[in-house]
Amino acid sequence: MATVLVTGGSRGIGKATAILLARHGYKVVINYLRNKQAADEVVNTIRATGGEALAIKADIADELQVLAMFAEIDNAFGAVTALVNNAGILFQQSTIENLTADRINRVLATNVTGYFLCCREAVKRMAYRHGGEGGSIVNVSSAAARLGSPGEYVDYAASKGAIDTLTTGLSLEVAAQGIRVNCVRPGFIYTDMHATGGEAGRVDRVKFSLPMQRGGQPEEVAQAIVWLLSSKASYVTGSFIDLAGGK
Ligand code: NAD
Repeated sequence: MATVLVTGGSRGIGKATAILLARHGYKVVINYLRNKQAADEVVNTIRATGGEALAIKADIADELQVLAMFAEIDNAFGAVTALVNNAGILFQQSTIENLTADRINRVLATNVTGYFLCCREAVKRMAYRHGGEGGSIVNVSSAAARLGSPGEYVDYAASKGAIDTLTTGLSLEVAAQGIRVNCVRPGFIYTDMHATGGEAGRVDRVKFSLPMQRGGQPEEVAQAIVWLLSSKASYVTGSFIDLAGGK
């Protein structure tokens, strides 16, 4: 049975993805930052339907914590064959004049360095040259990578732009090692990210500016992630799926 790590898997898009992956037969590791109770609830939801799941606390921006998390997965479930790089942060809307160095560094540490570290550890376990059997990685970027989020979150948008470039470069670097690397770019999705980071009610405020006139649900993003990870997408790498209601 394949082992998958979903970073930031205790809520939102990560939670929906973890639950759907379990239904597809994966052993699921739910990484979380602080909320053990929420992570345990996802684990219990999966176990209640006969699936296998485990919650591991780790800050993906911290290299030692990432190393410890992957080692724990090796022991508990066997090496990962799939990775969903999903954990991300967003701060309040701000023009560039008010972006502090601390904020910029925190956004880049999680949204970029964290993704790199998890990709690195996954590749070490998946690549043929390391004795692995190949694998699949999906990076969760954002429509912001294309649109830039001017006057709101250019720091966040730029961090997601880096993830798009990471997806392209890494997909080429590891294609011959049996590893596929793809990306989803959600638009406005109903999750707690907007309330804790950006602006509560944001999806409803902007939804009529979207061609489809509505925000998206985490489960709609999860469907694309699960497909990209699966063997149904066996000839797909370096690709991007936009889940943004047409914008
Ligand atoms: P969310 O805030 O509900 O979930 C993000 C999760 O990541 C949280 O559980 C949080 O605790 C975790 N996290 C944050 N920093 C972490 C760290 N350093 N280490 C480990 N975990 C950490 O938000 P979401 O909307 O579900 O976001 C999931 C992904 O989707 C993010 O990468 C986000 O940028 C992206 N995204 C979301 C939207 C949207 O509209 N909701 C749009 C585009 C992209």
